[in-house]
Amino acid sequence: MNRNRTQTVAVLGGGPAGSTVATLLAEKGFKVGIFHTGKRPPLIVGESLLPAVIPLLREMGVEEEVKSFSRHKPGATVTLSKDETVTSYFSRAKGKLPDYAYNTPRDKFDETILQRAKKAGCVVFPHTAKVVKLDDERIGLHEETLLKTDGFFENGVDWIIDASGRSRVIARTEMIKTVEGDRKDWALFAHWDKVKIIDEGNIHVDYLERGWNWRIPLQDRVSLGVVINPTHLIAHGTTAEEQYDNYVRSDERLREFTEGGKRITPVVKFNNWQNINERFYGKNWVCIGDAAGFIDPVFSTGLYLSMKSAFRVADVIAAGGEESALASYEQDWKWEVKIWRRVIESWYNGRLFTLYRAGMAQSKNPIGKIIAPHVEMHLSRVFTGDAINGSGYSRGLHSFLTRFFLFGFDPADLTVK
Ligand SMILES: Cc1cc2nc3c(=O)[nH]c(=O)nc-3n(C[C@H](O)[C@H](O)[C@H](O)COP(=O)(O)OP(=O)(O)OC[C@H]3O[C@@H](n4cnc5c(N)ncnc54)[C@H](O)[C@@H]3O)c2cc1C
Repeated sequence: MNRNRTQTVAVLGGGPAGSTVATLLAEKGFKVGIFHTGKRPPLIVGESLLPAVIPLLREMGVEEEVKSFSRHKPGATVTLSKDETVTSYFSRAKGKLPDYAYNTPRDKFDETILQRAKKAGCVVFPHTAKVVKLDDERIGLHEETLLKTDGFFENGVDWIIDASGRSRVIARTEMIKTVEGDRKDWALFAHWDKVKIIDEGNIHVDYLERGWNWRIPLQDRVSLGVVINPTHLIAHGTTAEEQYDNYVRSDERLREFTEGGKRITPVVKFNNWQNINERFYGKNWVCIGDAAGFIDPVFSTGLYLSMKSAFRVADVIAAGGEESALASYEQDWKWEVKIWRRVIESWYNGRLFTLYRAGMAQSKNPIGKIIAPHVEMHLSRVFTGDAINGSGYSRGLHSFLTRFFLFGFDPADLTVK
């Protein structure tokens, strides 16, 4: 690699991870080209942000713009059963992160970050990128792809960053193995003019007879998604529309949420399968965002992990892209995801909200009264993303309590089927 000339970077994909890394590298003096077709489904999934994203938006200088088209999100509300809902506000975490986040329409959100990348000097090529394997450690842009860049990379490509989301362009070319999650759910979602909301601005996540659903209030509409095993869906029709509409009609809770409302967009179907690359990098390439790994979205971790990986990789490449630095990026990411997966598992196996039930039962006795706010604060820190960089106490408390503090309540009642 010739370090006397400007280093060049090809970014595959102009989603949040790609546009973020491109912006940061361009501002550090790299010549950056982004491959971005702009062809996306009518709705893009991933509309609810975590407070941990806010500092990243501020650093990119886009928070005010994102705020202008998003809905303020103070917390989360979970429906356990007909008469049992739990509301949690980020402010109760009393941690280092902001006490709010946003629910955001992804087309506008992604466009804001892409425009930010252009402003930083990145050039966008409206083409699908193809790559070729050069040797065991290196990847190159396919000749066809290079031809479309009008000489932009005439002096070579120093780094290829895969931000192609779940298309995982490099992983597929390099035949990188992936670690898959246990569940094979599908997610179907659409926007509605009206859907019942209990706590203004909060994301609502609800247990269903089968699977679970989200209700995400946006500025002028509500996103309603169901996450469900496809074996339960096929009985409801063959097209995404049929399956979604019939499922919403057939489930008592969904019927109640949507009463008086109207679906105003097509239904979009995403598979919800989790996938983590065994390897994140080679000599001249690195994967970020969902192209590195995607975990179950129930706690809205996707954009946070994607943008965070973009920040980290921009720093690593700007510092010379040493192998050891790339290795610790991969190691840290996998460590963090292991923690999130433990928390996610406690949602699916029912232990997380069985702990809530157990806590409510104990909250009337004097000791329960004293420890309840403490537990609430630390669990809130887990869900804002605060606990990841903290001492580990909040994470440990979550693991300990969900294992040993259920006081005879049966988690099977809240297992996601
Ligand atoms: C059901 C579900 C619900 C979710 N809910 C949330 C949520 O509430 N909150 C949250 O934070 N996250 C959520 N996520 C996760 C979130 O959607 C992703 O983590 C996030 O979009 C990842 O960003 P990214 O930039 O890595 O990839 P993407 O957003 O997928 O962007 C990748 C881009 O690359 C493009 N591309 C692909 N191949 C090529 C190629 N060969 N050449 C050029 N471009 C290419 C794609 O078209 C796309 O534009 C959810 C995911 C699912 C499946």
